[in-house]
Amino acid sequence: MPEQEAVFEDGSSRMVAPETQLGEVHDLSLRPQNLEDYVGQEEIRRNLEVFIAAAKKRNHALDHVLLSGPPGLGKTTLANIFAKEMGVQIRSTSGPVIERQGDLAAILTNLEPGTILFIDEIHRMNRVIEEVLYGAMEDFTLDIIIGEGPSARTVKLELPRFTLVGATTRTGLLSSPLRDRFGIQCRLQYYSAEELQIIVLRSAAKLEIEIVEEAALEMARRARGTPRVANRILKRCRDFADLQTSGVIGLALVQESLEKLGVDLEGLDSMDRMILETIIHKFKGGPVGLGTLSASVSEEKDTLEDVYEPFLLLKGFIQRTPRGRVATEQAYQHLQIPLAHTESQMQLF
Ligand code: ADP
Repeated sequence: MPEQEAVFEDGSSRMVAPETQLGEVHDLSLRPQNLEDYVGQEEIRRNLEVFIAAAKKRNHALDHVLLSGPPGLGKTTLANIFAKEMGVQIRSTSGPVIERQGDLAAILTNLEPGTILFIDEIHRMNRVIEEVLYGAMEDFTLDIIIGEGPSARTVKLELPRFTLVGATTRTGLLSSPLRDRFGIQCRLQYYSAEELQIIVLRSAAKLEIEIVEEAALEMARRARGTPRVANRILKRCRDFADLQTSGVIGLALVQESLEKLGVDLEGLDSMDRMILETIIHKFKGGPVGLGTLSASVSEEKDTLEDVYEPFLLLKGFIQRTPRGRVATEQAYQHLQIPLAHTESQMQLF
């Protein structure tokens, strides 16, 4: 997947950013290699096991799969697992890097039968280019135009059967003709602390890090329900532990390290808190529209919607109302700000 930047204006990077950060080493060793090792997402996993087994039995390519959910929840990991489980190759690209219809046609015509074609951020693919995919997904053909002007003619090319795995942070951003062509659609959910604890313990074992169970649970609780964040917290805590004589990660070390890294007890960092404080102080607790909020905290609307909001909603710190975002009572309590009820909050609380 493309390495997205998660760097503040001052050059520092977010500890709890769910995207891969600039310069962050992609630890492929931490990626589960098969469905059995893939922690959590029980329902999705159970269904996929059936779909994969059935496709293998029929000796067919797996149906096209759409994976949606916030960054860092394991969409790329799942796509790689499909390839391993089906015993086929995987080719990865992403929506924004496919600039012309010809780019996509070149990818499609070079696929081996059964290949998994993984397109990350598929919602960011240009709509005109996207149309090339329709025929390719539906009947494995590709119409290409040869020549120009009156002598131009269309040639239909047969493509090998392949599986398109699309990943998106929000299904709502996908055009419906594209969305409808995915036979399997999975919406990934945030992980529970218990699931993330398992992930942290397994990653620690792979990286040969000594850690006590309650320390792993503390990391899991503060990892925003996101495996990528949990793994990053583990690595940063290892840095702190390495400087100590014992080298073992205990609860106190995790608490101290996270405090130094600006991650609070609920896993919020300074940007999350700034968003909540802005709603509370500048907009009297809300409602405030996304555009206004985005301008106030100098963050893109899309990033607010894809990255920050889902977690703040999950935690119950904000609510979406028809008139905009509202800070909830829990947000006031968490930030220890005395509650001043506005009219719309009275309706909420
Ligand atoms: P996405 O594509 O949704 O942004 P990734 O698939 O790149 O997320 O996952 C980020 C990292 O989190 C992976 O490298 C992997 O180490 C870890 N991870 C994700 N999902 C799981 C899972 N279900 N079990 C264990 N580790 C996971």
